[in-house]
Amino acid sequence: MLGVMSDEQVDLVLTLEEVMTGCTREITLRTEGPCYSCSGNGYTYDGECGLCSGGIRYGTETRRVEIPAGAESGLLVGEAQVYLSILPHRLFTR
Ligand SMILES: [Zn+2]
Repeated sequence: MLGVMSDEQVDLVLTLEEVMTGCTREITLRTEGPCYSCSGNGYTYDGECGLCSGGIRYGTETRRVEIPAGAESGLLVGEAQVYLSILPHRLFTR
């Protein structure tokens, strides 16, 4: 069972409209956990375990997160710190 890395940070770019109304986004988190194939030893009877690095497996997990209306940068969503960047309103960029 892999858990989300404790220092995981995600950068999300949102439009001003999304921040004002709130939205749902999918984020990809890096995960880590002990390797089940070698029981976290890094070696099997065949030699070095090919599935992990030193007994630790790394992976990714996609989660849907709710961005509440009026969210600010550094929002904590679940186990991950989500840093929001807000795009300028499209009316002002034309
Ligand atoms: Zn392994």
